[in-house]
Amino acid sequence: MHNLTKKILIALFLGIVAGIVLNFVSNNIYNTLNNFVLEPVGHLFLNLIKMLVVPIVFISISLGTASLKDPVQLGRIGGKTIAFYLSTTAIALVIGLLLAYVIQPGEEGIFNTDSATYKAGEAPSIKDNLLGIIPDNPISAMADANMLQIIAVAVFLGIALAKLGDKTAGLHKMLEQGNDVMMFLVNVVMYTAPYGAFALIASALGEAGMRGIQSMLMYMLTIIAGLLLHAGITYSIAIKGLGKASPITFYKNFFPAMMVAFSTSSSSGTLPISMRTAQERLGISKSVSSFVQPLGATINMDGTAIMQAVATIFIAQVYGETLGFSQLMMVVLTATLASIGTAGVPGVGLIMLSMVLQQVGLPVEGIALILGVDRLLDMLRTALNITGDATCAYIIDRSEQKKENQIDQKSMETKGYL
Ligand code: ASP
Repeated sequence: MHNLTKKILIALFLGIVAGIVLNFVSNNIYNTLNNFVLEPVGHLFLNLIKMLVVPIVFISISLGTASLKDPVQLGRIGGKTIAFYLSTTAIALVIGLLLAYVIQPGEEGIFNTDSATYKAGEAPSIKDNLLGIIPDNPISAMADANMLQIIAVAVFLGIALAKLGDKTAGLHKMLEQGNDVMMFLVNVVMYTAPYGAFALIASALGEAGMRGIQSMLMYMLTIIAGLLLHAGITYSIAIKGLGKASPITFYKNFFPAMMVAFSTSSSSGTLPISMRTAQERLGISKSVSSFVQPLGATINMDGTAIMQAVATIFIAQVYGETLGFSQLMMVVLTATLASIGTAGVPGVGLIMLSMVLQQVGLPVEGIALILGVDRLLDMLRTALNITGDATCAYIIDRSEQKKENQIDQKSMETKGYL
């Protein structure tokens, strides 16, 4: 195993041990350690990698688009990407719903809802998000780290670079050098990952508290089972069937990125590492990886969808409500939209859950019950979220290669070489 991967794994293990120990020390000691050591170290690490996200997404999408042969290829990749993202998210939701019905984590009477209060935050409007994809000011899009808008600007720049060719060779070269600088910085920042991972997991475990985890164990296990099933069945079938590769090798190679997603709880934040891992260890071409993965980190959240499905049924069970078939369909529809609208940063999936609950008439206060353990689950679902993006990139890359080979063969045939 790669040296750094080993170090991060050890750090995560030690972080779990430290988090458990923190549950047995006095509140004073926990607060002091958390405020002065764990949170600052975790925060520094998160910001170190977040600092690279906007330039990496902008540069790599411009270069990726510029390297595509024609706009038709861009359209084809875009179409396939969206189709994959939507269908796997729908499957994730069905898995979550089925598991919640079978396991019944929220069996009536176990939970006391009298003191549950939760004020639904303002969920970002999906319509505004999608319609606002073209920014009126590219600089403010970057300043706000609005990923969809940055993707749009970068695609336009890439198309222009491809069309203008030699005329803009200087700018193209500059972006390539910018990309080298960014990849170098990702490597440097990754040296701090073990410390960041340790601090983040210890703080999350300490915050959730052993008692909180115990009472929510069934809910947590239902979500964990959903995440494992989705990775083990849905993605594995896709990797094997469509990508013609071994899922085990795929997961082994992508594992370091999953660990970073686990420690940061942020798909967007992990983007620099997940793209580098996909390109270097899974062999995905730069042009496909740099288009498919940033888009996925923004709109494709299968882990979040599983949490939203389980949480909805859990809350319905706790409050003794039954959902009919049409309401369940509504859950699939709104949770798909909610996971698209979830930004790839910690905790947003839970805010978007209020939208799903409101849509089917369930009490939003139910969120108060799952709040305490959400940070831990966020770590796990984020690891699945970025795996979905890499799976999609892998499959599309293989199918594009096949297409190219066919085109090459055809042109050889027409030229009479074969
Ligand atoms: N933290 C998740 C992500 O970044 C989003 C969420 O479910 O809150 O992928």
